[in-house]
Amino acid sequence: MNYAEQRRRIVEYLESLGYLRSEKVKRALLNVPREEFVPPPYREYAYDDHPLPIGYGQTISAIHMVAIMTEELDPEPGDKVLEVGTGSGYQAAVLAEIVAKMDPEGRGHVYTIERIPELAEFAKRNLERTGYSRYVTVIVGDGTLGYPEAAPYDRIIVTAAAPQIPKPLIEQLRSGGRMVIPVGDMYFQRLEIVEKINGDIRVRHGIECIFVPLIGEYGWRE
Ligand code: SAM
Repeated sequence: MNYAEQRRRIVEYLESLGYLRSEKVKRALLNVPREEFVPPPYREYAYDDHPLPIGYGQTISAIHMVAIMTEELDPEPGDKVLEVGTGSGYQAAVLAEIVAKMDPEGRGHVYTIERIPELAEFAKRNLERTGYSRYVTVIVGDGTLGYPEAAPYDRIIVTAAAPQIPKPLIEQLRSGGRMVIPVGDMYFQRLEIVEKINGDIRVRHGIECIFVPLIGEYGWRE
């Protein structure tokens, strides 16, 4: 089965489970070639619904998790998004589809931070090859500090497990903005959906999940 067909099938499956609800997220998952973000030895498993190794002890998240987190984040065309944990660049490409490619004026941008320089390079190459690099800026650094240079953000997504919500990320979220972040211990977390309303922070709890640790000043110690 070719990759486009595999993509169509997994999207149908995620829709049948209720994980994919909106047309924009569905279209984004149909458009981004996930196989291009997976190291060559694992390409044939790109559309199996589980995380895959990307080297350096890290993973590309399972596709259902990308669907759930993107639906919870609810990015809009034209939004400025910060992602912490670039990994392969796949989630950043999915976000770029919605915020930049679906925007009639091509506004919208994704800033994504990765702490492992080799993975940031891997992601850059993947984004370049698939045509997303003009919509995505990859930064090497500690994402628990955010990226104040481009703040405030309409949306913030953290794709590694945090012990608590890093303060700098709350500060860099625009009023009216939304953040999705897995919070818990090193081995088990729950998604938190954070909204900033007139300076107040409201937190709603989403599904349980298992992510690799967020390592940094406002995360876990190395
Ligand atoms: N979103 C990625 C994708 O689409 O492939 C998957 C992310 S992977 C589950 C988590 C990533 O977060 C790893 O690449 C890890 O190195 C990175 N990470 C952990 N702590 C970080 C930090 N403080 N700042 C930036 N990246 C971090």
